[in-house]
Amino acid sequence: PDSKLPALGTTIFSQMSALAQEYQAINLSQGFPDFDGPEYLQQQLAWHVSQGANQYAPMTGVQPLREAIAEKTQRCYDYTPDVNTEITVTAGATEALFAAITALVRPGDEVICFDPSYDSYAPAVALSGGVLKRIALQPPAFRPDWQAFSELLSDKTRLVILNTPHNPTATVWQAADFDALWQAIGQQETYVLSDEVYEHICFAEGGHFSILQHPQLRERGVAVSSFGKTYHMTGWKVGYCVAPAAISAEIRKVHQYLTFAVNTPAQLALADMLRKEPEHYLDLPAFYRQRRDFLINALQESRFRVLPCEGTYFLLLDYSAISDLDDVSFCQWLTKEVGVAAIPLSVFCDGEFPHKLIRLCFAKQEPTLQAAAERLCRI
Ligand code: PMP
Ligand code: GLN
Repeated sequence: PDSKLPALGTTIFSQMSALAQEYQAINLSQGFPDFDGPEYLQQQLAWHVSQGANQYAPMTGVQPLREAIAEKTQRCYDYTPDVNTEITVTAGATEALFAAITALVRPGDEVICFDPSYDSYAPAVALSGGVLKRIALQPPAFRPDWQAFSELLSDKTRLVILNTPHNPTATVWQAADFDALWQAIGQQETYVLSDEVYEHICFAEGGHFSILQHPQLRERGVAVSSFGKTYHMTGWKVGYCVAPAAISAEIRKVHQYLTFAVNTPAQLALADMLRKEPEHYLDLPAFYRQRRDFLINALQESRFRVLPCEGTYFLLLDYSAISDLDDVSFCQWLTKEVGVAAIPLSVFCDGEFPHKLIRLCFAKQEPTLQAAAERLCRI
């Protein structure tokens, strides 16, 4: 058929994981932990299944989970979203992002995002008939250029998509970045989609700043979260978004026909988990900092240059001292010949990407990281 997304192939994450498997490489490409989440969560899932919680959940999410999310949001961001009208449980953050973009972007609308950007945004914008305007973030700091942003902004700009902590550059936005964004868009009717799936994996001084902490921006904002990251269970695919009632109502119009509802026992188990250990997420920075530092240390003797990592479970490596290959070819070579799979950064960008950068996932046990680092130190 005549494709609606002619340029799109299989995602880089599926491609690299498949290549890693084919060549028996250590897979530090697709972002997922090689360890399990809390046992209590697994027990509660089994328990709710045994108790017959096996039929459709309410479209917006089960009440105890939405209540627990409201309390968590209050604790983290000093803001309590309305349990009934402002919180929507979705099938992972992926669904929340897709539903929000589809709900807000009309044909001909412009959407601004910051490149490198997570790969699910652009297809959703394209399917909605929107026009994506990309601003390049420049290494090594990858700070937003607000002058360039103002130049891209127009009366057609319907949506800005941001991501903090940022996949793949591992940078985070400060309160001042949100202020700069508000200064730029405050006068016009532009919405903001804030992808915060790594909100609890933040090493920056001062921690993560959420759009929900910005009183003006949150009136136009959709904050997206993922339990997959917070509980090391990416396969559960439960996430949520928080947005003002009027925006949530539009998102729910899409959500109810995309998935209608999210699986019931997992939601109930997550609600139990949030109740039992409301501050589990406070341990995450130390937990992941240790893995990050272990990998950085293990790479000290390598010829890669390690970039700073303020958040997420990704580390960027510059390989310009090692090879002239472009990053996609380099990652293929690395998987096949060195036995370590990584993600090339150019796939998160449109067009030219002149840098020699790859992304490693350090959500792995130390022996996995050690073995990968040994291989990387040999080249
Ligand atoms: N946004 C970003 C920036 C991500 O890295 C990911 C997944 N790693 C998602 C969204 C999707 O999250 P989920 O698995 O909950 O759908
Ligand atoms: N978001 C994960 C990553 O950045 C991958 C998710 C997926 O495979 N769709 O690696």
